[in-house]
Amino acid sequence: MTRRKKMVERVTELMGTPERIRNIGIVAHIDHGKTTLSDNLLAGAGMISEEIAGKACWMDSDEEEQARGITIDSSNVSMVHSYDNQEYLINMIDTPGHVDFGGDVTRAMRAVDGAVVLVDAVEGTMPQTETVLRQALKEGVKPVLFVNKVDRLINELKVDEVEMQIRLGKVIDKVNKLIKGMNEEAYKNGWKLDAAKGTVAFGSALYNWAISVPYMKSSGITFKDIYEKCTTNDMKWLGKNSPLCEVVLDMVVRNLPNPLDAQKRRVPIIWQHGTPDTTEGKSMLACDPNGPACLMVTDISFDPHAGEVSTGRLFSGTLKRGTECYVMGTALKVNRLTQVGIFMGAERIEVESLPAGNIAAVTGLKDAIVGSTVSTLREMTPFESLKHYSEPVMTVAV
Ligand code: GDP
Repeated sequence: MTRRKKMVERVTELMGTPERIRNIGIVAHIDHGKTTLSDNLLAGAGMISEEIAGKACWMDSDEEEQARGITIDSSNVSMVHSYDNQEYLINMIDTPGHVDFGGDVTRAMRAVDGAVVLVDAVEGTMPQTETVLRQALKEGVKPVLFVNKVDRLINELKVDEVEMQIRLGKVIDKVNKLIKGMNEEAYKNGWKLDAAKGTVAFGSALYNWAISVPYMKSSGITFKDIYEKCTTNDMKWLGKNSPLCEVVLDMVVRNLPNPLDAQKRRVPIIWQHGTPDTTEGKSMLACDPNGPACLMVTDISFDPHAGEVSTGRLFSGTLKRGTECYVMGTALKVNRLTQVGIFMGAERIEVESLPAGNIAAVTGLKDAIVGSTVSTLREMTPFESLKHYSEPVMTVAV
């Protein structure tokens, strides 16, 4: 069996096991290193070659890929990660870091349950960090923190080991202050970021290494080692002994919720006008693959081979080719699915059936637009509309 076929089998098996799915987004201020992190995670998980990682190649569909009919969709990727001898399917939605794309962040946050908040260790939190974090919390999306560009602290700012830890602590404090200010209840109920508890990792996406307290405990690597290897520019050692992919994805698996846990909490937030004890309400709360299909469309892209592809989060039911759906708020004509797919690496692959808790990529939804609620039911209360919260307006005392 080819490597690709094996990967397809692993991905399709995992998509039916919601306990082992994590739907996540990386949120960051522009230039803090989101693209570098995404690429190196994909490469580390074996989904793209190490050589092309860091050059953002999966984001461009080149001629060869088009000739082979592979769709490269910049906005969605997935990877398989092993943790504690078990495999997990990590679905990652791209979230533009630029303020102009605020609306896209909103959509992405609807589809995911967890976010890796990425902050540049030198610059610290920036206005866009605040906006994207606010968006995540509004959608009930749980954060973990990755402090990036730690190599710059050491090699450019020449801070000593103590100063490095102080600076990293300050970044964590600042993000915690933001979380507390935006959602104090969540902050008190365990969403406070804490390096000792493993909800924070530090590292260098560019040089492919990271470290967290749990990883220090299991590997025996200390902050002192990190500092010394960085000062002597031994990034290879760090990349080999404290790999970015392992540290960051372990943090994701351990701390961010699976769809079963997340939907119990998130459905009342994103479906505020719905009635929980209806069939669809119960089914979404339980992430039940046997209930009616309830899908929220968060993105529509164009594929030269397949036409319009609607991507969204399937909160209940199972989608198959031929499934007859209705798009709420339209003339209620039947929309028949012509293809049902998920993402593997940066490709979209067709699957026989796709159960609740996954990010679906389907064709045939003629009447859907971004933000549509789609169901096998003729009528259901739509999800909350996608609202973008921009930066807080500064008020100046006069
Ligand atoms: P994005 O706008 O958040 O997607 O940021 P990019 O991934 O495009 O990175 C912005 C710039 O920061 C690029 O020049 C990267 O090479 C650089 N960069 C990313 N991560 C690191 C890092 O860990 N250390 C250093 N020194 N540079 C980094």
